[in-house]
Amino acid sequence: MKIKCPLCDFENEEGSKFCSKCNILLIKPKAFAIKENPYVKKEKPEIKLDYIINKIDDAATKFHESREYNEPYERENKKGTKQLLGLLGSAILFVGVFAPIVSIPIMGNMNYFQNGKGDGVIVLVLAVISLILVLLKKFKGLWFTGLGSMAIMTFTFINFQMALSNTRTQMETELTGNPFRGIADMAMQSVQIQWGWALLIIGVVLLIASAAIKE
Ligand SMILES: [Zn+2]
Repeated sequence: MKIKCPLCDFENEEGSKFCSKCNILLIKPKAFAIKENPYVKKEKPEIKLDYIINKIDDAATKFHESREYNEPYERENKKGTKQLLGLLGSAILFVGVFAPIVSIPIMGNMNYFQNGKGDGVIVLVLAVISLILVLLKKFKGLWFTGLGSMAIMTFTFINFQMALSNTRTQMETELTGNPFRGIADMAMQSVQIQWGWALLIIGVVLLIASAAIKE
């Protein structure tokens, strides 16, 4: 490092004791070196308030973006979604049991409950169990109630289709040559699946979705 002369600004070689231009003494005699007085308080470095605020703000931002902070929050969110789906699913399934699932000429609409005689009673019980499970946050049990309801509904639907085709076959044989056959045929054809099935299926799908969402 070159030594700049304080008088003439000439840059002298490292280690020079005198300026090679103006000959003044370049090194500071030891006697002039000012010793630090331990009794004189050093001025505290100024800590700016906005610097501190920024530091705290940075730390807070980091914390809010961290896994430790967000994980429990996300877990709660997912639990909320599961609970909402489960509540909707059990409610819709419950209502679906009392909604018309088939309309039959003369007899009118029939629901799944059938005054407590239908398979719908089991589905109704499963809907109530589902609701209790959701309220207790035991979402895994919804696999059982959801898939169980679906199995019973499939069973009912297949049974119904079989009964319908059996009746048709019976009519074919019994009503041959009967003048009312045409009317009977029309009546059979007007047997219609009703919107209650849609509710039952939506209810089951929501229950299974609630069970399937990972915590
Ligand atoms: Zn000089």
